Amino acid sequence: MKDNTISAVSNKVLDVDLTTGNIGEIEISDEDRRRYIGGKGLAIKLLFDHIKPKIDPLSEENIIVMMSGPTSGTAAPAGGRFVVCGKSPLTGIFASSIVGGSFGLSLKRTGFDGILIRGKAKAPVTIVVNDKGAKIEDAKKFWGMDTYEFQEKRKKDGDWVTIGPAGENLVNFAAIASGNRFAGRCGLGAVFGSKNLKGVVAKGTKKVWAKNPEAFKKAVNIARKKVKSHYMTGENLPELGTPGNVMVYGSNGIMPVRNFSKTNFEEKEKISGEYIKDNHFVKNHGCVGCPIQCGRMGKYGGKEIVSPEYETLALMGSNLMIDNVEDIARWNDLLNRLGLDTITTGSVIGFVMEMTEKGLMKSGLTFGHSEGIDQIIEDIAYRRELGDEMADGVKALSDKYGGGEIAIQVKGLEMAAYDPRGCTGQGLGFATANRGACHLSGSTHAIEVGSYLEQHGVKGKAEFVKFLQDLTDAVNSSIFCIQTEFPFLEENFAYKNTPLPIMQLVMRYLPGIATATTDLSDYANILSGLFGEKFTTKDFVQAGERTFNLERLMNCREGISKDDDTLPDRLLKEVREDGWPKIELEKMLVKYYKLRGWSDEGWPTLKTLKKLAIPAD
Ligand code: SF4
Repeated sequence: MKDNTISAVSNKVLDVDLTTGNIGEIEISDEDRRRYIGGKGLAIKLLFDHIKPKIDPLSEENIIVMMSGPTSGTAAPAGGRFVVCGKSPLTGIFASSIVGGSFGLSLKRTGFDGILIRGKAKAPVTIVVNDKGAKIEDAKKFWGMDTYEFQEKRKKDGDWVTIGPAGENLVNFAAIASGNRFAGRCGLGAVFGSKNLKGVVAKGTKKVWAKNPEAFKKAVNIARKKVKSHYMTGENLPELGTPGNVMVYGSNGIMPVRNFSKTNFEEKEKISGEYIKDNHFVKNHGCVGCPIQCGRMGKYGGKEIVSPEYETLALMGSNLMIDNVEDIARWNDLLNRLGLDTITTGSVIGFVMEMTEKGLMKSGLTFGHSEGIDQIIEDIAYRRELGDEMADGVKALSDKYGGGEIAIQVKGLEMAAYDPRGCTGQGLGFATANRGACHLSGSTHAIEVGSYLEQHGVKGKAEFVKFLQDLTDAVNSSIFCIQTEFPFLEENFAYKNTPLPIMQLVMRYLPGIATATTDLSDYANILSGLFGEKFTTKDFVQAGERTFNLERLMNCREGISKDDDTLPDRLLKEVREDGWPKIELEKMLVKYYKLRGWSDEGWPTLKTLKKLAIPAD
């Protein structure tokens, strides 16, 4: 192709060493490209190749990798996101966070698929990337600015990722902002802070082309029609966004209430997507080029700000027994500006409220009362007084003060807003997800609530958890938004034409057949067009399975084993108010390990690694 264009895969990654100031390039082999696709897969592979085991996540030996994907900058629907990966200071294991905004697209247009950042600068810096390469610039005068203020001041430079005061102060759950979207989970913002890295800006001008434009266009046209016609992506998400989940999950006993101790929040309507739409909605917003635009701006307290997502409404709302959406929206704005993960913050505050109630901690924070929450958010971000201890997360607090049984975390990551006693497959997903209690590693809850699988029991759970985890790693490697899983799976012939009771029977009693025959051709056809060569659905799913196992192998080397694949005692032992049966986690785990080809201790076996072409040492 002519000048100023770039193929959907350049196979070039910038390599920036903040200690030495050296800037180089890493070439991705065609073999790795096929095996890991891009995005999350290649980011994990780069960490595997370049990071030493057992390093301190906040030392200069940690590495951050940010990768766009083959779909970035193309007409593929919902392909404008990117991934940030590194070792987490919150969990001590490997972490990834997928985020929107415009940075991924701008980075891709510079001609680099991604950027790897190592070392530590002596004083605050930014990294500037454009079509010619990268340079490191002094950023002392910007240190201390909040995420929105900094991006506003420097917007002429391009599209930014940046941290706020929380990242600078090494809060274990500091987020990275990309516009007004956030890579929130696992504290990778603190890794930026530990490297004295305020932000990275990209300004690319190259046009991205598919290697087989006709095949790509045909596949994209089919896919876009499905996105439009599916209820979730064509109607529900554009109309209500993720807050549409409040009434669905709140009415089915899934939304967390009072630090996961109750099953019903009476006032849920007051924090619902429907309520926000009627009383606060201003306009939709979302990732570049996405036809869904699931985010929304709202008017709260006379100001137009980003409206909270479902997870924030649940963790900062029902989890704290707060029903005032104005308060939650104000906290959401404050958390975004300071650069804090809203899920972990809500979980930490809920834990401290319950510990205070039990007389195990002193805080002045109480369920159902907003007083003190604005202050404690600031104290966490600036590591002041009790906020300094809370800045280390729920696990660290329970290690110090006790209350491990009510500390709602797995592998050190606070749980997202789905009570696994009402979606047991999601419980297995939380127990086995590589970054901890993560709902985005395979959203099994979406097929358990009023849908294909039952909410309780074990039927079909292990099979679908594995399937969705592998699928989601493949989706995140291609850099499609996971919301595409609704239309790309359910707008196909078998799902559309089979009555629900039959689908339920097949998925519950013949899950192996159901997962193996699920049509994933939209993903494979779009990637084939981008790569200019046949990429099958088998290649696609296997790339996800490979990524999942490589990350697990890296975590096992950090000390993770079967003992860590568990859930908090509260969720395993306390009987729910609605009397639902307990989660049979052990039974599901045994089956899951067998399906994964892992040993009884939870390690991928040599046979599994060989099958997936993962190096064993
Ligand atoms: S659905 Fe929402 S999160 Fe996903 S790409 Fe579109 S705007 Fe971004």
